[in-house]
Amino acid sequence: MFEKVLIANRGEIALRVLRACRELGVQTVAVHSTADATAMHVRLADESVCIGPPSATDSYLNIPAIVAACEITGADAVHPGYGFLSENARFAKILEEHDIAFIGPSAEHISVMGDKIEAKLTAKKLGIPVVPGSDGGVSGFDEARRVAKEIGYPVLIKAAAGGGGRGMKVALSEDEIDTALSTAQTEAKVNFGDDAVYIERYLGTPRHIEVQVFGDGKGNAVYLGERDCSLQRRHQKVWEEALSPALNAAQRKEIGETCSKAMAEMKYSGAGTVEFLYEDGEFFFIEMNTRLQVEHPVTEAITGLDLVQEQLRVASGATLGFRQEDIHFSGHAIECRINAENAETFAPSPGRVIGVHQPGGLGVRVDSGIYAGYSIPPYYDSLIGKLIVHGRDRNECLMRLRRALGEYVIEGIETTIPLFQRLLGETDIIDGEYDIHWLEKFLAR
Ligand code: ADP
Repeated sequence: MFEKVLIANRGEIALRVLRACRELGVQTVAVHSTADATAMHVRLADESVCIGPPSATDSYLNIPAIVAACEITGADAVHPGYGFLSENARFAKILEEHDIAFIGPSAEHISVMGDKIEAKLTAKKLGIPVVPGSDGGVSGFDEARRVAKEIGYPVLIKAAAGGGGRGMKVALSEDEIDTALSTAQTEAKVNFGDDAVYIERYLGTPRHIEVQVFGDGKGNAVYLGERDCSLQRRHQKVWEEALSPALNAAQRKEIGETCSKAMAEMKYSGAGTVEFLYEDGEFFFIEMNTRLQVEHPVTEAITGLDLVQEQLRVASGATLGFRQEDIHFSGHAIECRINAENAETFAPSPGRVIGVHQPGGLGVRVDSGIYAGYSIPPYYDSLIGKLIVHGRDRNECLMRLRRALGEYVIEGIETTIPLFQRLLGETDIIDGEYDIHWLEKFLAR
């Protein structure tokens, strides 16, 4: 096991990683921008290093500063959390060159899955069902028209380097394809510095279902069930649950085994998520995330595993400590992403937290770094906490979630807590009947 892990992230995920390290007796180093000097993960870490000014480009994305912080503190591994440098193959490679372990998959796997065109081709080769579409990138109008006609309209043009729900354009008919292609290319170039785009069938009413996989880089891999993340706003997940209310045990086993077999074949190491759209009983691969996900706690709740500790074990060279037959799914879990935002307009609401009362009790987990007196800086993502509730079945989970939300008090700023309270009054939510467009339609009502 590692002796000292540097946590190259902030907020609730930095705290999450710190907790896993502490339970394993591993020393922790927090890095932070000047705006995060009083953050909880900094206060709790064994050591901390300021790596730059508030802007993420100059701090949390500043590779030389992070490598220097490792050298100053003698950290032998880095956990990147999610976002920031977590899917940066160059960062993983630089750490390797400095003899520092990157807690995540190989730089090669990060880079294959980071390019969505290559990821799709790889998935297809490994026997994972993909969304029908172009076999690679599409650059000219004629080619786009031909491919779109073959797939059938509507089609979606997506950026190869896309992420965070950005860089997608729908074309409903042939009249729209030229404009969609050129705007998608321009936006891809501006946002991601790469104008490569590809085309796939636009699915009308799918659910977003993703499979959590875990490998040890030695050819052992398992699946840890799926999460349903269909409740989205602007392609960003808002509420996630495990297991999906839409799947039965046979479907779960089939898609899970397809994914774990693929991961074993590619000798994938660490935690990964294979994302699918699911419509009319069929799965369509959209992308793979080669890191821990925001929503990993719902999987932890139903499997009893600590995914961060498993990441640390595997990254330090251990073989997978469990086989597929050791994994059992117990009950149901739901996560609500609590953002510092107005619950109706979603306008950011940074500022000073005056008081906090977090819910507790059986089956309730809160992952959050906020405390009374803490000032939420305006420079970063507005996620300030996650409420995760576990019950013996989905119904108990919903009842418990209602109870926990009722106890949750955050004073001084606005949060999205009232949105979740509203959702719990909706029959479709109670019945688990929603697709990826449900939330936006609900919000437009
Ligand atoms: P990102 O990396 O930006 O998150 P994804 O490929 O994971 O992009 O897609 C994000 C979301 O966009 C999906 O969860 C889904 O809501 C929507 N989406 C992506 N591909 C399609 C598609 N072919 N048809 C319909 N919706 C899609």
